[in-house]
Amino acid sequence: RRAAGPAAATGPGRTADGIAVPLLSNIGTEAQALAAAAGGSEGIGLLRTEFLFLDRTTAPTRTEQRDQLTRILRAFGSRRVVVRTLDAGSDKPLPFLPLGDEANPALGVRGLRTAAGYPQMLAEQLHAIGEAAERAGREIDVMAPMVATADEAARFAGLARAAGAARAGAMVEVPAAALRARELCAAVDFVSIGTNDLGQYVMAADRTIGSLGDLLDPWQPALLDLVGLVGEAGRATGTPVGVCGEAAADPQLAVVLVGLGATSLSTAPPARDAVAAELARHDRDTCRRAADLARSATDAAGARAAVAAFLDRT
Ligand code: PEP
Ligand code: MG
Repeated sequence: RRAAGPAAATGPGRTADGIAVPLLSNIGTEAQALAAAAGGSEGIGLLRTEFLFLDRTTAPTRTEQRDQLTRILRAFGSRRVVVRTLDAGSDKPLPFLPLGDEANPALGVRGLRTAAGYPQMLAEQLHAIGEAAERAGREIDVMAPMVATADEAARFAGLARAAGAARAGAMVEVPAAALRARELCAAVDFVSIGTNDLGQYVMAADRTIGSLGDLLDPWQPALLDLVGLVGEAGRATGTPVGVCGEAAADPQLAVVLVGLGATSLSTAPPARDAVAAELARHDRDTCRRAADLARSATDAAGARAAVAAFLDRT
């Protein structure tokens, strides 16, 4: 159902029937964070903390991490900020964190898995995050990348909460985590689906290889099935389900994601207004019907076309 007027694109994200779907920002640098805060972003759904670590030959100190994060938190006032702990390894190698020679780095030691070999790195980062929240006098949410099991999530959540995180979350990037989403949800306060990696792993297609683009298409019904499983688990357990991969930046796919159970979306800042405008045109029932249509398709192109035909006439 179309709601009135283009004014719907501004203000907080919501469906035509008024269900709030916060549209948060994916942030990679401090400058981006400050610009997004000034530009009226609803918050940060994914702070990629690698930005402080990439191109460095030594690890940033706890003080450096704390001070940078404090500035970002202050810029966002009371708006939600979700910090992702270091996602090192595979497509994000760090010079000072030798992870060994791996034949399959995407399947190797990366993300949260690096904490086994470098527990101090995670401890320092969590400590800095807790201190920043305290200095800024506000809450902070923290999530871990590349979580495969509920057990890993529970261990991480324990550390994050002890360090002062208001809420501890797990990214859903590994198909196993989506398949066992109920257990995962029970272990954390929120989950956030990283469709870039989840797509890579469910289709067994390296995200850095351009010629595999068709398999990595975020409209792949198999990827949407996994998102749907997480959405159902979120509903059943009362756990917020975010999506922070690139899929959320496609306006019609964003409608599908909400239909699959996403309760917030996080995109690169320039994508926000188009997503807000599309979402504001459809009520939740329409979102669900779009999701059913997409999952009924046999391939990505079919899903995209079916949803476009449906949404463009509603
Ligand atoms: C993702 O994998 O979808 C994600 C948001 O994380 P990144 O792209 O940084 O791996
Ligand atoms: Mg990822």
